[in-house]
Amino acid sequence: MFIGPGVRIDYDPGARLLRVIREGSWPEEVPFGGVGDWKPNSRSDRLPAERAAELFNLVEDWLLGDWTSHPSLAWRIESARGQIARYDLDLGRGGDVCHICGAPEIVSAYGHIKRPFKWSRPICRVCSDRDMKPSQWDKSLPETAVTPTIHAWRERRPAERG
Ligand SMILES: [Zn+2]
Repeated sequence: MFIGPGVRIDYDPGARLLRVIREGSWPEEVPFGGVGDWKPNSRSDRLPAERAAELFNLVEDWLLGDWTSHPSLAWRIESARGQIARYDLDLGRGGDVCHICGAPEIVSAYGHIKRPFKWSRPICRVCSDRDMKPSQWDKSLPETAVTPTIHAWRERRPAERG
């Protein structure tokens, strides 16, 4: 893979490492840790919001830390830091009973987005068949889903927008 003038990075699948090759110097080898049987686009289980926020906080702590990338790499830290405000956290389904009447037989859910969060509210067949207008949906953020870890994740972002 060509990266910039005089620099290329190759992946060596046999040795499981990146080889950074700069003109006029010995290649630098960056080994990978084990990833098990993971491959790009593998099927996976969705992480609960709490666990996802915990991992995002870890990565963002590192990203916002005091460090600089090597000038020969074409990866600008400012660009990566700018991505922090550009993704949402899915809080999942808020509750396991109908959010209108409390019935336990759920047939669907209404999804909501209020950046930086997404969530859905479960609904039963009776309430769903009433052809409810969006103005009747409960669109409030399920505040109980905003744990201290998720709150810490939210604190790095601009105020929620509709
Ligand atoms: Zn209902």
